[in-house]
Amino acid sequence: MRILVVEDEQLLCDGIAEDLEMEKYTVDRCYDGAEAHERLFVDPYDLVILDLNLPGMDGLDLLREIRAERPEQKVLILSARASLSDKVSGLDLGADDYLTKPFDLEELEARVRTLLRREYIQKNTVSASDKMKENAEEKM
Ligand code: CA
Repeated sequence: MRILVVEDEQLLCDGIAEDLEMEKYTVDRCYDGAEAHERLFVDPYDLVILDLNLPGMDGLDLLREIRAERPEQKVLILSARASLSDKVSGLDLGADDYLTKPFDLEELEARVRTLLRREYIQKNTVSASDKMKENAEEKM
């Protein structure tokens, strides 16, 4: 499972990436919206964790492009923009989930698990989803 974390606050980006790496995901980090845009269309990722206030390219513009090119791409918005209208526009643009800062790493992990599990179920790969369940149980 490959995840791209797009977040310009480097310490936060690295913290999220290291945390998810401990959960056995392969994680790439990106501190700039335009660079993220380039990478996304070269390499496939199972999930993109996307900040909205980004240099290079705004997160919502990036989301628009992702949706136009890759309707199946899973995107979780992670943003300090916490108003109802921000959340609604993010979800309307096709984000699969929206988490506001400040947040708990445990909650982020849980949401990541849910999004990636949903993908497994959609693909109907029962053995893979069973494996994820086993992993989740081991952690308890
Ligand atoms: Ca930011």
